[in-house]
Amino acid sequence: METFAHFDSGHEFPEEIVMAAGFSPVKILGDVREGTAAADEYLFPFFCPFTRGCLVEALENSGKWAGIGFAHGCDATDHHYDIWKAHIKTTPFFYVNTPMKVDKTAQNFYKGVLTLFINNLNKQYAITIGEKELKDAIGLSNQVKSLMRQLASLRSEKDIPNSDYFEMTRMAVRTPKGLLVEELKTLLADWESRKPFPAGKTPILLTGSDVTFVEWMELLDTAGFRVVRDDLSLGERYFAATIPDTDDPVEALVTYSRNIPQSATRTPSDGRMEYLLKALSETKVDAVVSQNMKFCEPYAIDAVWTVPAIREKGYKVIHLERDYTPAVDNQLLTRLEAFKEVIQQKGGNRNA
Ligand code: SF4
Repeated sequence: METFAHFDSGHEFPEEIVMAAGFSPVKILGDVREGTAAADEYLFPFFCPFTRGCLVEALENSGKWAGIGFAHGCDATDHHYDIWKAHIKTTPFFYVNTPMKVDKTAQNFYKGVLTLFINNLNKQYAITIGEKELKDAIGLSNQVKSLMRQLASLRSEKDIPNSDYFEMTRMAVRTPKGLLVEELKTLLADWESRKPFPAGKTPILLTGSDVTFVEWMELLDTAGFRVVRDDLSLGERYFAATIPDTDDPVEALVTYSRNIPQSATRTPSDGRMEYLLKALSETKVDAVVSQNMKFCEPYAIDAVWTVPAIREKGYKVIHLERDYTPAVDNQLLTRLEAFKEVIQQKGGNRNA
């Protein structure tokens, strides 16, 4: 099956439409270990480094992809569309103009956007994406999300290192979905047989910029933290909601887009806070780790509001700025370890 790559800053791209078109969707994530030199020729140095890593991946691999789909997310992804179009000539480009609002007007607009995307794919590849294909893709996608929810729920009960959770979420957006279902079932049996949650680890909720490389999740484990809840795109934003089973599959995708844990680029931001507080009420955590990658404005700006709001509810919160590097940041590690000590001294959790 041919692969179709997509690039978004949250979970805005409608994978199910390219699945219905007969392609296997692959989320472009870049490779932090490779550096961004190839992309730096085309982009300002203060541009989000994660997206520069994505451009490096596209420059190297676009010839292998049937197409590249962009979804409107943050300013970085939007500006990249023009830059990539100018410099990558080996594959067709599509732009999905996901609205930043979630009200009724925005939903009507988005339905038109998705219909246009379907028509453009039909025209480009001489195919016909029908209701049946879309419903089959939605069914498969929901199967994946259900398995991921079961896996994720084990984080607070079993010994699941942050790296294992990260690799599971990364695999979910890079593997053909049919194969993925089998992989996730095998993983579920493995995780269910793991030892109980380790006594020395502190359960946390992780929020902020998407974490796209395993080394940063490992850093949290080194500092003694286990991520048992999150609202990241390589995380709960991807699997928390089910795509509704309705007669109109395009309408179902619109509703799904409204129901997922919202990213910092969506407005109003209330939905994002609602999801965070809901997660905190559902699962016992001892603290919240909020972070933004350097040059990630949406999450840096949002933290000014989310961090005090969560703290006001009685939770212990730390906010960090991190670099796009696989190297261990010892300063950050020291801050996290100090934060863990404070939590332990004060008895952990809310209202302490
Ligand atoms: S890390 Fe921040 S700036 Fe970069 S793509 Fe994601 S949301 Fe946009």
